[in-house]
Amino acid sequence: MNAFRSNIPECTFEKLNIDGQFTRLAVSPGIINKHYTPAQFQKIAEVVGDSGAIKYSASYNLLLSIPTQTVQDVISELQEAGLYMTPSGSIIAFKACDFCDGERMEAAEITEQLYIELQGQTVPSRLRLNVNGCASACYNAVYDDIGLVYQKDSFDVYLGAIPMGAKAQAGTLFAKGVFVQEIASFLQRIIGVYQQHARPNEPFYKFYRRTNTAEYWQIMHNVK
Ligand code: SF4
Repeated sequence: MNAFRSNIPECTFEKLNIDGQFTRLAVSPGIINKHYTPAQFQKIAEVVGDSGAIKYSASYNLLLSIPTQTVQDVISELQEAGLYMTPSGSIIAFKACDFCDGERMEAAEITEQLYIELQGQTVPSRLRLNVNGCASACYNAVYDDIGLVYQKDSFDVYLGAIPMGAKAQAGTLFAKGVFVQEIASFLQRIIGVYQQHARPNEPFYKFYRRTNTAEYWQIMHNVK
């Protein structure tokens, strides 16, 4: 029984990557889909081989350590197997709940539209946008930079969460009941404010807490 012991394997990313020979990929079955197929697990095992490493992360991804030399081929193989690679960097990164294993998909279509429109946009510091499909918010949307909680054709929008650390805190309700038809432009305005007024590399929660009395936030409240 090694649930609490033997937790330090020989192959960790840090050990493998001492000379920069390994690249880390964050892999998942999708933004909404959380189920891997056996074939996808087999493919992951095959591309990692004996030399790499696999671990799971707190952000719904498996982290794979892949020899840097082969990484482009590996990405193609994983994509062919239907796997999704979460991009890294100072961009908008998307998360979502699994919509009750796909049985509660009312907000799935708008989630996909938002993904197409927003994912990958460059921002001062990586910004996690998390869409949850009902008021249970069981995938902790309110603990991400922008949390969207769907309820009956509209979204409640939470901002300003401190996602980790000793001072971790949920975001606060910024706007209630933003209609599905308006949510994309509403989010674009929030992101635009962040892109325009944040300091270089300033995390979203710091920016929001520093500026939340500024006029541009008040205007957004008023035009919603
Ligand atoms: S947030 Fe709601 S819709 Fe999403 S998985 Fe949890 S219970 Fe299901």
